[in-house]
Amino acid sequence: MVRRLLAKSSRSRQTSFGIGTESGKLSGSVPFFARSNPTRLLASLNQPFHSHQQFAIRVCRIGTTCEMKPRELPDVDSETPLSEIKIPDPRPELSPEDVSRRRKIAIRKRIKGYGTLLAILYVGIWYQPYEFDIIPRKLPNPNPRIDPDSKTLFSKGTKILIVTAHPDDSEFFIGGLLPQLKKSGAEMHQVICTDGDKGYYWIFTNADENRRVRREEATNAAAASNIQPPILLGYPDRFLHVKSDVIAGVTREIESFRPDYILAFDGDYPPRASHQDHRRSGDVAKIAAERTHIAKWLMLFSTNAPNYFVDISNNWEDQKKLLAIHKSQFYGKKLEGVENMVGYNAEKDGERGGFDMGEGFRCIKLR
Ligand SMILES: [Zn+2]
Repeated sequence: MVRRLLAKSSRSRQTSFGIGTESGKLSGSVPFFARSNPTRLLASLNQPFHSHQQFAIRVCRIGTTCEMKPRELPDVDSETPLSEIKIPDPRPELSPEDVSRRRKIAIRKRIKGYGTLLAILYVGIWYQPYEFDIIPRKLPNPNPRIDPDSKTLFSKGTKILIVTAHPDDSEFFIGGLLPQLKKSGAEMHQVICTDGDKGYYWIFTNADENRRVRREEATNAAAASNIQPPILLGYPDRFLHVKSDVIAGVTREIESFRPDYILAFDGDYPPRASHQDHRRSGDVAKIAAERTHIAKWLMLFSTNAPNYFVDISNNWEDQKKLLAIHKSQFYGKKLEGVENMVGYNAEKDGERGGFDMGEGFRCIKLR
């Protein structure tokens, strides 16, 4: 009696079989498609065959098992061509109602599955903070170099307002310029639009603790660059929008500080993939700067269309120290990764500006 048939699927989509029988062991190799069709399976084995045998066929693929229950084979002799042997389907006959019911259940299950998958995808995309321009934005052409009165920029007492989205943005994006401005004796204020409640966007974090820690780190980092303690407008991280109250918040700071320069993200020509809060804070700063007409220059960083480059080749060590102040964000391997990323960007901008390391800005003269 044939006791069992074991099959192993190979990567070449051939299935190898071994059949234990009373008279010995049969083995062979059949195409993958034959694995679940007993008639084709037996025919493919091309072996002498005894009737009245009970078969238990077990076909195994890597990681799956498909079992066919033992059944009586038709009464045939060994001369009958194997291809003509019809083995009855082991599955019970289903009524048309049952077939239709099963089909409906299967469809419902599939809809539920795809629906859940889509919902997870939607929430994931909605929650993640990055924006990606599928079609690259057209860059200004021509985009001539501009000197934003750099002598004034690096003069003692020049008033500079930095508008960012998150507590660590200044050190990340203009951390090479800050030591230079500190050295030249600029008077610097900083507005941070969000409250830093999310850190790395992990859902289960303590928002209050994040706010406290990140405010403290931003204050320490500001102090290291001789910037006044930052003003946090307190909007939730990831959900910054160009709204009248945000614009009013930035406008208020511009009117009270009356800066000569406003430094902010470039919302018009951002990197193709960038944080949506960065873009929005840049839009807000630009609107407030144009409305107030107080600052002479708007210098937009994290831009794809720079027209002015600052040589920061000698400030790299200082920038690394500034980055390390944000311990909750950048530490260990993460800090190393961030340093590599910032360094890489500085080298790229440096190449465009003709320095070893640089920071690119899109400068707009406001008045
Ligand atoms: Zn940021």
